[in-house]
Amino acid sequence: MRPSILNPLFAPIDTLNGIGSRFGALMKNLCGGKVADLLWHLPSGFVDRRCNIPLRAVQNGQLWTGKVRVVEHITPKTRKQPYRIVVEDNSEQLVLIFFKIFGDNLTKQFPVGSEKIISGKIEIFNRLLQMAHPDYIVDAAFPERMPLIETVYPLTAGITNKMLNKHIGQALQSLPDLPEWLDENMLKHENFLSFKQSLWQAHHPQKYDDLEPNSPCRRRLAYDELLANQLSLAIVRGRLKKQKGRSLAGTGDLRQKLLDNLPFELTDAQKRVIAEIENDMQSDYRMQRLLQGDVGSGKTIVALITMLKAVECGAQAAIMAPTEILAQQHYESISELCDKIGVKTALLTSNTKGKSRKLLLENLANGEVQILIGTHALFTEDVAFKDLAYVIVDEQHRFGVKQRLSLSQKGNLCDVLVMTATPIPRTLVLTQYGDMEYSKIDELPKGRKPVITTVMPLTKIHDIVEALQRRLQDGTQAYWVCPLVEESEKIDLSAATERFESLQKIFGPAVGLVHGKMKESEKNAVMDEFKNGNIKLLVSTTVIEVGVNVPAATVMIVEHAERFGLAQLHQLRGRIKRGKQASSCVLMYGYPLSEVARQRLNTMKQTEDGFVIAEQDLKLRGGGEILGTRQSGFNNFRLADLSVHGDLLQTAYKDAALIIKNDMSLQTVRGQNLRTLLYLFEQDEAIRTYKAG
Ligand code: ADP
Ligand code: MG
Repeated sequence: MRPSILNPLFAPIDTLNGIGSRFGALMKNLCGGKVADLLWHLPSGFVDRRCNIPLRAVQNGQLWTGKVRVVEHITPKTRKQPYRIVVEDNSEQLVLIFFKIFGDNLTKQFPVGSEKIISGKIEIFNRLLQMAHPDYIVDAAFPERMPLIETVYPLTAGITNKMLNKHIGQALQSLPDLPEWLDENMLKHENFLSFKQSLWQAHHPQKYDDLEPNSPCRRRLAYDELLANQLSLAIVRGRLKKQKGRSLAGTGDLRQKLLDNLPFELTDAQKRVIAEIENDMQSDYRMQRLLQGDVGSGKTIVALITMLKAVECGAQAAIMAPTEILAQQHYESISELCDKIGVKTALLTSNTKGKSRKLLLENLANGEVQILIGTHALFTEDVAFKDLAYVIVDEQHRFGVKQRLSLSQKGNLCDVLVMTATPIPRTLVLTQYGDMEYSKIDELPKGRKPVITTVMPLTKIHDIVEALQRRLQDGTQAYWVCPLVEESEKIDLSAATERFESLQKIFGPAVGLVHGKMKESEKNAVMDEFKNGNIKLLVSTTVIEVGVNVPAATVMIVEHAERFGLAQLHQLRGRIKRGKQASSCVLMYGYPLSEVARQRLNTMKQTEDGFVIAEQDLKLRGGGEILGTRQSGFNNFRLADLSVHGDLLQTAYKDAALIIKNDMSLQTVRGQNLRTLLYLFEQDEAIRTYKAG
């Protein structure tokens, strides 16, 4: 159960005074539906209303705050005229102008002779001072009601800054004093105030430094969020470590046979990660390991060699790909090698039906099939193995910790390897895969040809089509990737269809189209035509993003490349690195191109190293949007920004490891306080885990 002290933070925001269902719904879209979400909505700026100049000294356009006396009301003579109120300080007169008048509000609010403190923007016309609709009007008897520094929040339509200030102020009032979960040394070293004080300060910036992500208050909040994340992963990791697995030692026979049949030498990086994985498999705890390797770094062979180890022990292994096309492709390359060494493989997707499916399931249950390749159909459906000991999940950066946990529970004390080609900066590996051990293939096989990348405006599309025409005549194949429009598949589709039709007019039947809305079988049919060369130019939305292998395709054109995430562009470009020929990639951009977008495209031009690209992307775009967050399913931190708080993440990682080492089930006083932290940041999975044991 969540500690009751946190209840006010987890109340729905419409339990705050003055938040109706309409505002509640808007708020939910802007930041979330709980009171805590309001508090995590940090300011983007502030308006400084402090001002101590007389009206006589004010300049056009200036924000002015001061005490005035009401001199007279000038009621409009026609409906078009505004309502005017003349006021003065000791130096000058000022006309307040109101275009919207509600009944006799103004006469009540501004009795002649009364004193008010007002704040708003001054405009000077013909040497007359005017202020249209003051931002604030307070009775001179209550000067404290004028917010001299007004916090400015990111807004959305229908929500004003005043409303946000009011409600966040209220939410801050309801914030309880929470027990301190940070170590005293850390507090001292970083100059941190308490969580509550830090939150209060973050919402009441007094100077521009207070808005900086590295101000002490914001760093403290970021650290708490990161510590909750790292602690929860450390708890899960700790539990998995304790779980007994089985020791898969193997004889090495099959592996040797395979190596004898390979037309190439393994790279040193491949050898190293194979050793790391095998070490885990041999030990008697359950492996949970992430294998990271850039596109084309040769993960498949690593997968196969380690699967053979399970097979050598008389057990079975399975590899799961995210799409049918990829599963098919894995099957082709893996079965080709396995056939040579007498290992039985099979492919299972949702297309495997009827008799062949029945037969396959039989052979799986009796152990005849030693390596099964498939999509997630592998696990969701009623598929029984004789003895599944090792599962590989390919390209599953979309999976969260939770799904991984449930997956590893399906096998018989299964070892699990997750492979990803997404180049994730080290910091992010910690936040997303901190529950797993980590291996990285940091070297490409020798002799890979570079991709020449050019960046061009879309206005040059005719030149590009002309150049493409020549290349296709030479037998080259090409991808044409269509832009993302507002992440909406429907609009993507119409853009791709339109491009397809216009290219078809030029290139005739050699043009094909694939998109996400097609049935798997239709997609596969088009891909087959592309693979066998009947289709020379393949127009697509981003469905080809992951893993498709067509060696003769060495040209790629990306429309509106500025709309893609860098990691996504990198994945796309990886598609044309499969062949023996040098390849080229054209990134076309539309206007206007922002400075950041220009830098990002230049990064793509300058380097092919996925890790450099990922680090650069992190720097340029900031934590929230990394790698096109939504596609890659990365944690969305609310208070931490990994592009600036990377150092805090490292510290949180170490802090969490130490906490778990000394107090695995969070029993000490600090441990108890840390439980509150975990609840505060909704790390429920971890909490269930430490409860379980
Ligand atoms: P990815 O890591 O993107 O999954 P693959 O495993 O598909 O990469 O490998 C890409 C290509 O490189 C394949 O054709 C594979 O046979 C080849 N390959 C893998 N390892 C080596 C190596 N050590 N030397 C040469 N080619 C290799
Ligand atoms: Mg692969």
